[in-house]
Amino acid sequence: MTNDVKPAKKRETVRRCPVCGQEAWRIAYGMMGPDAMAESPKAEFAGCCLTEEVRIYPATGKVESGVPRWACQNPECRHRWW
Ligand SMILES: [Zn+2]
Repeated sequence: MTNDVKPAKKRETVRRCPVCGQEAWRIAYGMMGPDAMAESPKAEFAGCCLTEEVRIYPATGKVESGVPRWACQNPECRHRWW
């Protein structure tokens, strides 16, 4: 038994952008302390301002609104989705 075992990896924090295929990061909302930021180097910290975005869901053609959870890190794309 050792005491220096690192905690298991948390949920996936990186995804592929469905538009351009580049790396996309999870968007973290709310007040985050330096600890949380150090724990999640690959997350975009959006603070407390939840921005609802509207999209047309391609499969149904219905208009939906929601808060994006993922942000593309490609500066030419910046696609956000949920
Ligand atoms: Zn993208």
